[in-house]
Amino acid sequence: MSLPTRIHLPSWATRAIAPASLFLFLFWYLNGPGAQRSWLDLGVEATYLAAIALGVNLLTGYTGLLSLGHAGFFVVGGYVGAVWAPAWGVSPWFGLPAAFVAGAAMGALLALLCCHLRGFYLTVVTLAFGSLLPALVVVLKSALGGTSGRNVTKPIDVSILPFANGDSYRGLFVLSTIVLFATLWLCRNLVHSRWGRASMAIRESELAASSSGVETYLHKVSAFALSAGIVSVAGVIAAERFLLVSPSAGGQDQSFRYVIMIALGGLGTLAGPIIGAFTLTFGFGLTWVQEHLVNQQNLVFGLLGLVGVALAPEGTMGNVNKVLAKLRHRQRKDASSPVTAVTAAAYTLPVRAALTASGPPALELSAVTKRFGGVVAVNDVDLIVEPGEVHGLIGPNGSGKTTLLNMISGITPVTSGRVMVMGHDDTHASAPKRCGRGVSRTFQNLQLWKKMTVRDNVLVGCHRNLRVNTFQAAFGTHGAHKAERAAVQRSDELLALVGLSARADDLAGALPFAEQRRLEIARALAASPSLLLLDEPAAGLHPSDVHRLLDLIGTIKASGVSVILVEHHMELLMAVSDVITVLEFGSVIAEGTPAEVQNNPAVVAAYLGVEEDVA
Ligand code: ADP
Ligand code: MG
Repeated sequence: MSLPTRIHLPSWATRAIAPASLFLFLFWYLNGPGAQRSWLDLGVEATYLAAIALGVNLLTGYTGLLSLGHAGFFVVGGYVGAVWAPAWGVSPWFGLPAAFVAGAAMGALLALLCCHLRGFYLTVVTLAFGSLLPALVVVLKSALGGTSGRNVTKPIDVSILPFANGDSYRGLFVLSTIVLFATLWLCRNLVHSRWGRASMAIRESELAASSSGVETYLHKVSAFALSAGIVSVAGVIAAERFLLVSPSAGGQDQSFRYVIMIALGGLGTLAGPIIGAFTLTFGFGLTWVQEHLVNQQNLVFGLLGLVGVALAPEGTMGNVNKVLAKLRHRQRKDASSPVTAVTAAAYTLPVRAALTASGPPALELSAVTKRFGGVVAVNDVDLIVEPGEVHGLIGPNGSGKTTLLNMISGITPVTSGRVMVMGHDDTHASAPKRCGRGVSRTFQNLQLWKKMTVRDNVLVGCHRNLRVNTFQAAFGTHGAHKAERAAVQRSDELLALVGLSARADDLAGALPFAEQRRLEIARALAASPSLLLLDEPAAGLHPSDVHRLLDLIGTIKASGVSVILVEHHMELLMAVSDVITVLEFGSVIAEGTPAEVQNNPAVVAAYLGVEEDVA
């Protein structure tokens, strides 16, 4: 039986389908239902709400930070863009970029204040901001107009826009549509760039993100700024629509609506916010809804939030994507090709800094101590890792090995002592800074971003090497594309090295345990480390996988990367280590070659749990 031939479209065509459909729909709408003024007005509302939902989704859906105060920026945009900017004597068009800049600056300020917080506390601060702003307008009556707000006296001349036919109502719809497409384009570029991957990495494991070189605090500030800027621009359109800026538009019920629209459409997707905003806004335009529910908007939003999100938390697009992923998986199974294993020996890893034997040690710890309350987890440890050395670190459970790695990678601050990395005093440097210096790591309890693809996991590992700033990412510049292509190629090489080429497009969470371990190593290698910290990479592996790991560590060593290997698997450790340090209760009890350590009575005693003199 012959299978029906599938049509394979080029990737640009696949990408264009959704925006082209949206464009055709809005074009039809303008000339169809839009002929009626009330529907045209609804169309303006739907398009700017969709832009808002896309913007808020950058923060809430992609970066994982829930704001319940973003409607505040909507009011800021209205004042700055539609009232103040035209009053300065410049063209009212100037109000749009002015609102973006003012909103983004205010968003950044709010973020600087609250981005050290997480979850509940961060959301509470945004909630406070959202309630403060409209109240401020009321208090500052003379400057901001009090409860009645401010009139827009110099509106933008939207009637000159194409397709407006000289009509300002049609013109406003065209402007709102342009803003929606511009927002969609920016968000699409951002989401598929270094910026978007870093956002999702923060959302899933901030710890792993910062160890992979993402400056998490600054990144969250940028997410706040971008989303606030977009909401502010929408605020200008709304002000032009009513020829009024009113503080009530910044209330919490509005912020709540943004979140509900995103949740019902699909959190962390591009189409979801648009679907959510369109469905809810146009839904209110239906005659029956107009007759029965037009004054019950809070009731409708409340019920939809309650029932819709409880029953389908992933929203419309979340569920559509699930079905698509299943179909794709089935297709791939049909067409699966044998995995091409790259022989480890054939590949040389790029190394950040060419370390020479005569240069400074890769790592030098002096009297490093860590106390957790009364527990001394690491006690006065001195340790030197020479360039290109594989340094084994062993000790019974709870002896401080992971804590030591955390202090080397900058996740845990030292209580006292000094950490020198590549000859630099990095005792107080943050995890991303140390990643930049060439320190990379894996985690004992895997810290993969399970909802991201295998390739994207490695691409975040490339974060520091992929020099694309937020501006370049948002505008999808030539440089950004070029750097992106190079990073994808490099990630694919690393995936081939660890034998995961065939899984590149799968979600990391779908991999078996042994493959997840190898993926973490590939991600760590993507940062081109000079010093790689491996925390029990063989734990829970089948003997055949341990052999594979042995080969891999051999390749890493041959490339000149220094390694600290924490392991209980003695065969592996003895085979690859140049030097082994032994910890017990946080202190170094022995150090030497594998043979020396193996025959050291103190080590045998520590491991067998017998008194030294008895042994
Ligand atoms: P290992 O990796 O050698 O098994 P760890 O470094 O995980 O050991 O733990 C060393 C000691 O420090 C243990 O007693 C552990 O309970 C304690 N410890 C580790 N992390 C923390 C923490 N965040 N808070 C309090 N105690 C901790
Ligand atoms: Mg440990």
